[in-house]
Amino acid sequence: MKYAIIIPDGAADEPQAALNGQTPLEAAHTPAMDALASAGVVARACHTPHQLPAGSEVGNMSLLGYDPLENFTGRAPIEAAAQGIELGEQDWAIRCNLVTVEDQTMRDFTADHISTEEATELLAAAQEALGPNGLNMAGLEFVPGVSYRNLLLWRGAERPAPFSMDLRATPPHDLTDKSILNDFPRGPGSDVLNEMMAATMKIFADHPVNKKRIAAGKLPATNVWLWGIGKAPKLQPFAEAYGPQGAMITAVDLLRGLASLVGWQRIEVPGATGYTDTNYAAKGQYAIDALNDPSNSVDLICVHVEAPDEASHEGDCAAKVKAIEEIDTHVVAPLASSLQSSGDWRIMISPDHPTFLSTKTHTHGNVPLIITGTGIKPDAFTSYGDTNAAKSELAFDAGWQAMRWFIGKK
Ligand SMILES: [Zn+2]
Repeated sequence: MKYAIIIPDGAADEPQAALNGQTPLEAAHTPAMDALASAGVVARACHTPHQLPAGSEVGNMSLLGYDPLENFTGRAPIEAAAQGIELGEQDWAIRCNLVTVEDQTMRDFTADHISTEEATELLAAAQEALGPNGLNMAGLEFVPGVSYRNLLLWRGAERPAPFSMDLRATPPHDLTDKSILNDFPRGPGSDVLNEMMAATMKIFADHPVNKKRIAAGKLPATNVWLWGIGKAPKLQPFAEAYGPQGAMITAVDLLRGLASLVGWQRIEVPGATGYTDTNYAAKGQYAIDALNDPSNSVDLICVHVEAPDEASHEGDCAAKVKAIEEIDTHVVAPLASSLQSSGDWRIMISPDHPTFLSTKTHTHGNVPLIITGTGIKPDAFTSYGDTNAAKSELAFDAGWQAMRWFIGKK
């Protein structure tokens, strides 16, 4: 059996007035998804237990078949795994966004999609200032990632960490256009995080990178925003838990990290950006190639597309619909047609969590999913969407259990 999982990140949503009362998944023209819905089942799953953040970190862990209530230890350690960073027993990883804060409001949690080169320069300046000649914070390491998505490591052996799992920090994408005053990190160890955020505000204020950005009409990166703190999780290898050998296609470090932590291969696709301008067709083609290449023994390919989530964070309904349509045309259609032409196959399509256009943020709650393929008896639904899923008799309240159903493992 060959398996494909397609994750349109954050695609689940509410009915929109601008779409005549339909949700983006329903309004989008998606013949390939609807054909799969007709041939299989439409169900719903909750991948974000209410006790945990309604984020991609929790949602995708659950989607891959791991109970987040048992396994989730924070977002940043998953991204550290993506970068091949080893975390020791005493180490903590912290997400370090470059953001634009204006008048105590989160103007942009991406610092206007700052480039990786610019981010790297700013973080080097922060590292320098926090080192022996600055705040003298031994054991702290800024690690540049991609664009605004970076990490801060706290090596506990060098400097005992003051944190516990009770530390709370708000994801900056949940603060878009909102006041940040009540959302600074709080709880054990938060003082030192707040101190660092304030320090970078001074360090970045007159930095040449920001001067150039302002001159070019771009938003400056005003400071780092620290959140997602945690220690390394220990996940059972996927092949051991479920059987198939998996591989992941994504442009987002979080998903690369989850793939590494569950023992999947990672396939890098040129032109995959993690944004609405991503190369959808290349993602679809690489997925097909991975399943058809006899030399790599992949029997489950997972294609994650961040674009619908990004469009939601921007409150851009048309862009969200278009992203879903691109996924349908360039990922779902070719992948389904390739699978159907070669032996036993199954496809699952599922977002990780809803991201509401109305609030521009992730939310807890059900996502609609399709499971189709060999051995799956079709239900009565003929299209994929949030409303059909809400009516379905098949529901996974503990969303991680959907994987067992999909794989057909008793
Ligand atoms: Zn997500």
